[in-house]
Amino acid sequence: MISDINVTLLITADIQNLLDERGIRGEDIRQVISCAENGTQFHTQVATGHRLAYYAPSRVTYWVEYEPTEEGYRIYTAYSHRMRILHGFNMPAKKVQTFADWLCSTCSLPLELATVKLAYLDETFGVDIPACPACQRIIVSEEQAIAKMALAERMLEDK
Ligand SMILES: [Zn+2]
Repeated sequence: MISDINVTLLITADIQNLLDERGIRGEDIRQVISCAENGTQFHTQVATGHRLAYYAPSRVTYWVEYEPTEEGYRIYTAYSHRMRILHGFNMPAKKVQTFADWLCSTCSLPLELATVKLAYLDETFGVDIPACPACQRIIVSEEQAIAKMALAERMLEDK
């Protein structure tokens, strides 16, 4: 077990600037990593060994891409979205697609495209997203969170 206090973060100046722009604090990142590592709940990128995990302490979901090293956790990126992931409601996607470059750490399975339920304000909708076929834990890519989800959040706010 690791406690929040012992999570040492290795963050370059460039990444720190990005995190400042996005309003993501060190404590948000520590929370994601300690939660992921304590429960072995993360996805691993096969080629790089990078881990991707998320945690939603409040209305915001934080994602962190990181790598454990002897000196601490090296942070590659972090991003957030306000759309909630409704875990446990995944349906098979119409298109069958396997994402063998990411493995679920809990189940040791490659991810597959699934129709995942998301919620924002009063709306619930299904989006095709890579997910573990066993435990249903999904991956929201940085591009998806920063571009597509942020746009959808704004459209729903304007309704
Ligand atoms: Zn899994």
